[in-house]
Amino acid sequence: MIEVDAIIIGQGLAGSAVAATWLRYHKKIIVIDNHRPDSASGVATGLWNPVAFRSTGMAWKAPVFFPFAQTFYQKLEIELGETFWHKTGILRMFMSEKEARKWEKRSTKEPFRKWMSEMRPDMTHLSVKAPNGSGFLGHAGYMETSKYIDAFRKKLHEIGCLIHADLDYEAIKTVGDQQVQYQNYTAPHVIFCEGPQVKHNPWFKNLPFRAKKGEILTLENPGVELPCILSKGAFLLPHADGTLRLGATYNWNEEDTQPTQWAVEQLFEKLAQFFPLEAKVVRHQAGLRPTTMDKKPIIGAHPDHPALIVFNGMGSRGVTQSPWLAQHLFEYVYKHRDLDTEVAVDRYADHF
Ligand SMILES: Cc1cc2nc3c(=O)[nH]c(=O)nc-3n(C[C@H](O)[C@H](O)[C@H](O)COP(=O)(O)OP(=O)(O)OC[C@H]3O[C@@H](n4cnc5c(N)ncnc54)[C@H](O)[C@@H]3O)c2cc1C
Repeated sequence: MIEVDAIIIGQGLAGSAVAATWLRYHKKIIVIDNHRPDSASGVATGLWNPVAFRSTGMAWKAPVFFPFAQTFYQKLEIELGETFWHKTGILRMFMSEKEARKWEKRSTKEPFRKWMSEMRPDMTHLSVKAPNGSGFLGHAGYMETSKYIDAFRKKLHEIGCLIHADLDYEAIKTVGDQQVQYQNYTAPHVIFCEGPQVKHNPWFKNLPFRAKKGEILTLENPGVELPCILSKGAFLLPHADGTLRLGATYNWNEEDTQPTQWAVEQLFEKLAQFFPLEAKVVRHQAGLRPTTMDKKPIIGAHPDHPALIVFNGMGSRGVTQSPWLAQHLFEYVYKHRDLDTEVAVDRYADHF
């Protein structure tokens, strides 16, 4: 038997954050991942944006999550020798006069002010349509999620911590409350980070997870020099690889990862509202966001099998939520700190 400190299932944004955190504390891990090409983490555009545009308010725990995520990924960029964290800023074109007024009022006060204090880029050469005005958020950008996942995967492989396989749930054997065996591994914990595939997990599948389908388009850039991300109902992102990304759709009614013509039409229709552009679609991807009934992640140990831990439900903000929450989980496991009640699995005790 090989003894490790944790067996981590899944290497999307959630599992990678847990694995990177455990490795930082010199813990021994093994990660099992089947590397689905349509996983949310592989498809995501990776926007990090501390403002919830719909409400013109701060995103949940933004002042905690965002600085932590930035430091976390920038350290990993150095360790992995890759660049994937980009600070580009976002130009928000207001949907209404009401939004413009709200923005104006909030942008002069903390905590909002801090995130928008940077110089607005010159857009006068671009035909941006913003009849209700616009606001610039300097501290925002995107992460190249698949580049990060691939680079981290390579590292896990090199240090012998990765098994490329489907998890065989039936082979997981709990021994008392404090030990789990899986094939020739033994560990005090299995941490499940399967994203929407949690629906196959015999211990956690009854928790109120809901998959929310999303689609994005990669467009050939017809020579547009966009200095930042544009956003109004959809976003247009100037990607480091020279293409443009147009996204994203939100669909509760489909649970597959098939790209649809509906998404192409909807995204171009939205784009026409703020930046009319004719561009060839070179790639069309769809994935499922792992969301939950109350829109908060679900983290913690199974009530009857404390060695089995769930770390899931990152929703549409996996980039910025996963790093801090992985640290939070570490402190729960090793320092016996309580989990934040907003994320603790205990809130769904009646689902077991
Ligand atoms: C179109 C789209 C756009 C998005 N845009 C953004 C964005 O701009 N910003 C942002 O922060 N978030 C965005 N998201 C959300 C983000 O992608 C998710 O929050 C995040 O990727 C979830 O990560 P995860 O690791 O929980 O799940 P996943 O990405 O699904 O990863 C789970 C991993 O576990 C593996 N796995 C699952 N089950 C098993 C098993 N039984 N055996 C072995 N391996 C297994 C899978 O192969 C996969 O690698 C977007 C999502 C979509 C779909």
